[in-house]
Amino acid sequence: MHLVTFDDGSGPRVGALAAENVIDLCADGLIPSDMIDLISAWKELADRVASSGGPRLPLSTVKLLAPIPRPRKNVFAVGRNYRDHAAEFSKSGFDASEKQMIPDYPVFFTKVPTSVIGPGAVIDSSNDPTGTTDYEGEFAVVIGRGGKRIDLHQAMEHVFGYTVVNDVTARDLQKQHVQWMVGKSPDTFCPMGPSIATADEVELSKAWLRTWVNEELRQESPISALIFDVPTLISALSAVMTLEPGDVIATGTPLGVGIGFEPPRYLAPGDLVAIEVDGIGRLSNPVI
Ligand code: MG
Repeated sequence: MHLVTFDDGSGPRVGALAAENVIDLCADGLIPSDMIDLISAWKELADRVASSGGPRLPLSTVKLLAPIPRPRKNVFAVGRNYRDHAAEFSKSGFDASEKQMIPDYPVFFTKVPTSVIGPGAVIDSSNDPTGTTDYEGEFAVVIGRGGKRIDLHQAMEHVFGYTVVNDVTARDLQKQHVQWMVGKSPDTFCPMGPSIATADEVELSKAWLRTWVNEELRQESPISALIFDVPTLISALSAVMTLEPGDVIATGTPLGVGIGFEPPRYLAPGDLVAIEVDGIGRLSNPVI
């Protein structure tokens, strides 16, 4: 199932994708309109969602928002979590905090909730005063059942599903501030969507991620190439903090970001960035 948050002019609510339509899951008032509320009550509501006879609205008539338009805490993200990207990033010299190319532990940072935008929404590069706006195609985990000190071997039971995130980054700010949060959190720098694919829709061992800029393929990698896999990320975060339904963990980006080119190929107004992950969907955002 691919769950979306959409607006047809009468307010944001959750739906399910069905071919070229969105099934309005909230029409009968029995399913919450907010994605985090739905995820929180999923155990009780899953059957009702699956059998929903809600009205079908053509995708062309609705606006898709980020599936979680306003995460209730920062979006977790992971730096240098693919070997080939760790190497290109190390070579660029842009990681002012780097001690070794391949980290021993996941390099966590966060993106603030106000950076989140939906599919098709514009990435506003004027929010990066340094003119070094870069893309990072990633698949992201959406937490279902929350928990603390989640055992590695039970971690996948806490996964609700997956979405696509563009971890847009102001490279010079990332470097200047050493801590990455500022360079990762300008407004519009966290495109997310188009849907949340429930966990059963995605084969982590087989899915590939691809990123295009203006239809030029820039990133192509199996997502199984992560250095720290999904259970490890969940286990490491929850070792110290409570994970909650709807928390998002962007898992890292593979080789092929703009900073990896010589000279760097940053985003510019007029560009279109598209990221696709097998089983999840395609997230496209224009740059202004
Ligand atoms: Mg990233």
